[in-house]
This record gives sequence, structure tokens and C-alpha cells, in this order.
Amino acid sequence: MADILNNPDQHQRKVMRALLWLTVFATLWLGLINLYRGLIWLGVMELFYAGFAAALLFIINRTRHLRLWCIVYLLPFFSLTVYGLLLPGTSPTVFAFIQVIPIVSYQLLGLRLGLSFSLIFVSLGTLAYSYRFLLEGQLADNLVSLFVILVSCFAIMLFSHIYERSRLANEKHLRQLAATDTLTGLPNRMSLVGDFERERSRAQRLQTPLSMVVMDVDHFKFINDRFGHAGGDLALCHLASTLRQRLRDSDLICRLGGEEFALLLPDTTLDQAARLADKLRERLSEHPVNLGGEACVLAFSAGVATLGEDAPDLDGLLLVADRRMYEAKAGGRNQVVAAGQHYRLSAEPPVEGQST
Ligand code: GH3
Ligand code: MG
Ligand code: MG
Repeated sequence: MADILNNPDQHQRKVMRALLWLTVFATLWLGLINLYRGLIWLGVMELFYAGFAAALLFIINRTRHLRLWCIVYLLPFFSLTVYGLLLPGTSPTVFAFIQVIPIVSYQLLGLRLGLSFSLIFVSLGTLAYSYRFLLEGQLADNLVSLFVILVSCFAIMLFSHIYERSRLANEKHLRQLAATDTLTGLPNRMSLVGDFERERSRAQRLQTPLSMVVMDVDHFKFINDRFGHAGGDLALCHLASTLRQRLRDSDLICRLGGEEFALLLPDTTLDQAARLADKLRERLSEHPVNLGGEACVLAFSAGVATLGEDAPDLDGLLLVADRRMYEAKAGGRNQVVAAGQHYRLSAEPPVEGQST
């Protein structure tokens, strides 16, 4: 699952690697044969292409511009296939290779570009093949075989399109699953890693503050003991929806695990983040959750840290915010701590069960 989030191009890289190895061996073999048969230009081009494919094998493992390199590889590859069809000396069976074009194009270039490449090169290949028979005066004899191959090409194109569309949809769904906490529907810790990198670059580029709040529900074990695990789950969902209602769309709310949550707040200073966390704490105390007919007041302790002043990266920020959250626990719970300062607008008891 983590691989889908961290390495979204993995499928294309695998296909490209397999294709490049195949190309190295096939073009080496074909190049030597064509040189032997006297098709010097074609043979030299094929040998040159074998070297090019071998060099690409080193590049594609590291490049961040995979799509671009795929185009750089596929354009001459398909052009060479079509050119080969035009030459009277090459075997007409080369036309069978045209069928590979839609499969490879869709897998490496995606739906739109894959469709364009498939249509252009399958059409050019068919024209080249027909032109060759026309020159040899055999077009009429070969019309049926041309038609059969053409239909099979378009069938492959259609199925490649359907397959690639389902694959992309499944990959998107898996990516969402991998990044989402199933209980609350909030982004999970894995998602925080990617979002933090994006927000950090933005904050550094625009010179704006970026703060992190780590919060932990107070005496949550008591809620589980009193209302059962299902009651505890409901309480976590209640906290998640309270946070969602009060925060901006640009703020990231994340469930770190258990009853621990984190807020990533762009354009927010340490003091603003602490005040915001304290308001959330107060709002939570004003809106108890109904657990089995009882109004249960939730409370949390939170620690706040800000990028740059407290730490330069995500691990550092989480560490500092976590340490301050434990200071808030030690200070009596139900409060927010930022750089030694304790924020507490009101002082409710940590957890309260009241009959309605
Ligand atoms: P403190 O104020 O010191 O944080 O006390 P606490 O009781 O909240 O402390 P602790 O972290 O020890 O307890 C957390 C509990 O949360 C323990 C664990 O069983 C429970 N928990 C973790 N994940 C879930 C969950 O998804 N659902 C429910 N219902 N309980 C969970
Ligand atoms: Mg905890
Ligand atoms: Mg707790």
C-alpha cells in the first residue's frame, strides 16, 4: 500500500524496464540479421537503437520525467517499425508487431496520449503495409489478411483502453484507501507525510508560517471502559467531525493512530495555532457526544510546534509537539501547550458522564 503512495509510477517503470530489455535483445538480433541481409541502413539503425535502449535502462530507474522518456523511446521505436514495413526486403510478418503498439502506448502513456499514439501509428503501419502490397501489385490478394489484422489491432486497442481505465480507477481507489483512516474517514499518518512535504515547500517559497498541533484525548480508556469499544469509536468520530467543522479547507486534520490526532496549519503562527487548538478544545467541551443516552464531554491535551522555530522537518515537529502535549498532560490535562506557555480558556473536568 505504502508503495502506491510513495511510488505512483511503479507500474509504468516495470513495463518500461521489460520493454527495454526486450528491445535490447530483439534489435541487436534484428540489426545483425539485417546487416547480413544487406539492409545496411535498417541494420545500423536497429543496432543504434539497441544501444539507446540499453542507456535508457539506467535512466528510467531514477528519472522524475518518466512520461517524457517514454515518449522519447516510443516515437523512434514506432517510427522504426513503420519504416521497416515500407522496405521491400523486410518480412511482411513485421506487421504483426503493430499489435504491440496499443498495449505499450496505453500502459506507458495513459489514456489520452495512449489513444493518440495507438491511432496514429496503427494507421501509419496499415498504410505502409498496404502501400507495399500496392507497389508489388498484390493488394487485392492480401485485402482479407489486411482486414483481419486491422480488426485485431483495433480490438487490442479497445481492450487496452478498457483495461487501462479500470487499472487507473483501481489505483486511485487504493491510493485513497492507503491514505484514509477507516474509522473517522480522516487522512492517516501516511497521508500526512506527503501533504507535509507539499506544505513545507509552499511555506518556504512564500515565507509563511506552518504549524503543527498534536492532540491526545484525555482519559480515553475511561470512555472505552464505561461505554464499550463501540462507544469509544463513536467518541473518536465525534471529535473528528468537530475538528472538520471548525477548520479551514487548507488545514489538514489527520488521525495519527488510536486517540491521537494532528493538525497541519498553513499560514498559522505558533501563537495562532495554540489559540485555535484551545478554541477547538473549548468547543468540544460545549458539545458533548451522546453515548448510549448519556452526554459525554470529551477533552484533549495538545502540544503545538512551528516549522523553522521548533524543527526543520515533519519528524522533528511531531517530536516537539508530542513533548509539549505530554507537558499539557502533566499540567493537569484539557489544555494546550506551546513553547512553555499553557493555553486554557476554561477549565472543565477532563471527562464527564452526565445523564440526559
Ligand atoms: P491520557 O489522558 O493519559 O491520554 O489517558 P488515556 O486513557 O487516553 O491513555 P491511553 O493512551 O493509555 O489510552 C488510549 C486508549 O485508546 C487505549 C486503546 O485501547 C484505546 N484505543 C486506541 N485505538 C482505539 C480505537 O480505534 N477505538 C477505540 N474505541 N479505542 C481505541
Ligand atoms: Mg494516547
Ligand atoms: Mg489519551
